[in-house]
This record gives sequence, C-alpha cells and structure tokens, in this order.
Amino acid sequence: MAEGEAGLYASRRPQSKAMFDNPEPGFYDQVPQYWMRDWPMPFPFAVAGASGSILTDIDGNELVDFCLGDTGAMFGHAPRPIVDALSRSAQRGLTTMLPSGEAAEVGKLLSDRFGPFVFQIATTASDANRFAIRVARAVTGRKKVLVFDGCYHGAVDETLVDFEDGRTVARKNLLGQAVDVTTTTVSIPFNDVAALEAALETHEIAVVLAEPVMTNCGMILPDDGYLQTLRALTRASGTLLHIDETHTISTGLGGYTAVHGLDPDIFVVGKPVGGGVPVAIWGMSRKVAQALSEIRAGMSGIGHSGIGTTLSGSTLQIACLRACLSEVMTAEAYATMSRHADRLEHGFTDAIRAAGLPWHISRVGARLEIVFSAKPVRNAEESRAAAIDDIQHALHIGLLNQGYLVTPFHNMVLVAPTTTDAQIEGLLDGFQTVLTRLVAQEE
Ligand code: PMP
Repeated sequence: MAEGEAGLYASRRPQSKAMFDNPEPGFYDQVPQYWMRDWPMPFPFAVAGASGSILTDIDGNELVDFCLGDTGAMFGHAPRPIVDALSRSAQRGLTTMLPSGEAAEVGKLLSDRFGPFVFQIATTASDANRFAIRVARAVTGRKKVLVFDGCYHGAVDETLVDFEDGRTVARKNLLGQAVDVTTTTVSIPFNDVAALEAALETHEIAVVLAEPVMTNCGMILPDDGYLQTLRALTRASGTLLHIDETHTISTGLGGYTAVHGLDPDIFVVGKPVGGGVPVAIWGMSRKVAQALSEIRAGMSGIGHSGIGTTLSGSTLQIACLRACLSEVMTAEAYATMSRHADRLEHGFTDAIRAAGLPWHISRVGARLEIVFSAKPVRNAEESRAAAIDDIQHALHIGLLNQGYLVTPFHNMVLVAPTTTDAQIEGLLDGFQTVLTRLVAQEE
C-alpha cells in the first residue's frame, strides 16, 4: 500500500519533484533545513500558499492542514490581525534593539494571560528554554538539569538525552557533541515518583524542565496528582520547576498551567504565541527574578551574560504578540478548537473500534494523538514500544493523498479556529478509508 500511495503522491507533484531533484548548488539537500527531507513521503511538496487551514502546493494540490506547522500556525495560517500588525510594523521599522511604545502593554497582556511572571522575549522556544536554564543555574548555584525521557524542548544541548538501561545517555544521532551529558543532565522516566525523588535528593538539580503532557513521544498524560507531586518535591529540594508550554498551549486559554492551576517558577511558550511570527516568551516568578537581580547587582560591567539575541524583543515581535494575545489566541478561538477536537476524538475512537484495532486517542485540548496501544502509555519506554513506523507512514501518506495533512514523526492532529465542520468530517472519512485499507492488507 505504501508504495502505491508514494507513487500517487509523486505523480501529482511534478514541479515539487523537479525542485527537489535539482542538483544545482543552493541549499544543502535542496531544502532550507535538511530534516525537511525526513517527512514520510518520497520528497517534500513546496508550498505556494497557506491561508486559514488550507495549504496549496506549487503543483496546485490543496490540503487541509491539521499539522499547522507543528503548532506554529495553531490559530490558522496568517491570521488577519497578525497580517495587519506586520504591515503596521513595517511602516514603523521592524527592529531597533530598543523597546517599542507597545512594550509595556504587551508585558501586562502576558501576565494577565499566563500568570504572575515577569517576562523576557526570545525568538525561538529553543532559545527561551536555553536562557531560562541559564537563569535557573545562576540563581540556584547548581549545574544539572532534569528532563523526562522522550522529551523535546528544542535544540538545547542539555535536553538532547535519552534514558537507557537506567542511565542518561546522549541521543544517538546527536551531531558534534563535545560535552559529557551526564555532567549537565539527568533523564528519568515520566510519571515515576521514586525516580524523581531519588534524583532530587542529590540536591544537584537546578531545574526540572518539563512539558505538563509529554507531546514529543506520542502523547503521554501525567498520572493523577503527578504534577502536584512534581511541584511539591521540587520546592522541597530547592529545585526550580520550568514548564515548557510550547505544545501544551493547545490545552486552553493560558495553557495547561492556567487551566490546571500549575505554579511553576519558570514558564515558556514559543511557536504560536506570535501567531506564526518567530517569537517566544519566558517568564520567571517574582522570587526567581529577585534572585536574578541580586546576582546581576553584584556583577561588574555589562553584557555577555549568555542571555538574549539581537532581534529578540523587536518592534515586529511586540506588535505580533499584542495582536495574537488580544485578537487571535482568544477564549472564543479555544472554544471552537475544543468543539472540533471533541468531534474528532469521538469520530477517531469510533473508527478505531469499528476496525477492531487496539489503539486509542490521547488528547490535550486542541491536540490529538492516535496511539497504537489499547491503554494509555505512561512513559517514553511504553510509547516507543507502542510505535509502529510503517503504520504511521501509511496513515500519513494515505491521508495526504486524500487531501489531509497530519503532523509527521507522530500521528498528531491539531485543529485551528479556522478549521471547518466539513474539514473535520472529511478527515474522519479519510481516516476510516485508510483504516479499512490497512486492515484489509493485514488480512
Ligand atoms: N519546546 C517544545 C515542547 C517543543 O516541542 C519544541 C519544538 N517542537 C520546542 C520547545 C522548540 O521550538 P523551536 O524549534 O521553535 O525552537
């Protein structure tokens, strides 16, 4: 089935194929980032346009987008308020290395939305996490970071580790690694209180960096009470708790933290927070900010703290943050997304049952993951055991050929406020068709 689907995909995209077959120098591997080649189809399609929930490729194929730039376009492609903010900022200058007149208002919008933190701006979630880790180490005077096996927090050295045979090891495909990860990082399984206690008891951990729901290794929900235990144990051991909401911002207004009343010391969101424009935020509790100020007061000279980049906090980013927080990432938008996700959750579950497959749906707000196991997985080891790459690829390309794009390297479906009822029903029909073919092929 996969070969037939790959052939169909290619036959519909002669121009994309020619573009990526072209050996002329330019981009390495002909793509702006070489992992764009890793998508589960013979070659990527080149995008001619993206608007709302629709992508059009250079061969004229239209796709309904349930990948949404892996969350970057969570509120739909190019929302009108963001386009307007971009054009207004273009008239005032895009970047000056100084705060724009809107900055104070945006700072207030951030605290109103995400909680009583004081914020800084970065350009990517990777950078926001990196800067926050630096602060955590500075204020605690400790070196190590604790992450959960299977995590992804961006291209942050300390987090590119796995947990294997009971120990922390560097990820196997990591390039150019020079530092021994065991000197910087401890990795433990999610939902394992005993492992957490043991790690924190060493008093070496500056910060636990966590997603409240692990979204990069299937989608692993926390056990009841686990996040409260995590908070209590980190506090008791003088370790900071850093919550990365870059994906779980799909939960609802203010992210998982606001919806479930978490109380982290550090709070990060990247990707969709500027409506698709490169911007990320990192917030510190007042206590952490106070400790940082005391350290900075004791320093001589200025500059080179290892925090900040030139284009961060720009006029452009501030304008887009303002537009996104006040007009795009709204309670109404989340209500629509939640309604669509309810329908998908039920529809997928019914289709899985009808096909007699031992799968289930894991969900955090507007984000759903099709998991190839009958029961929820509790940690990365269980998630890896449940993964079936061939079926994941077959689902992806089968749906693509019917006009629906789901997130690669996952079975993730994300809905936007721009998604329509008809698109939801179309995806469910497409899913049912692919399942029927998969089951027929197995028989
Ligand atoms: N945090 C999480 C939870 C992520 O999933 C990602 C990227 N998928 C990042 C941070 C990094 O985001 P970026 O690649 O935009 O820096």
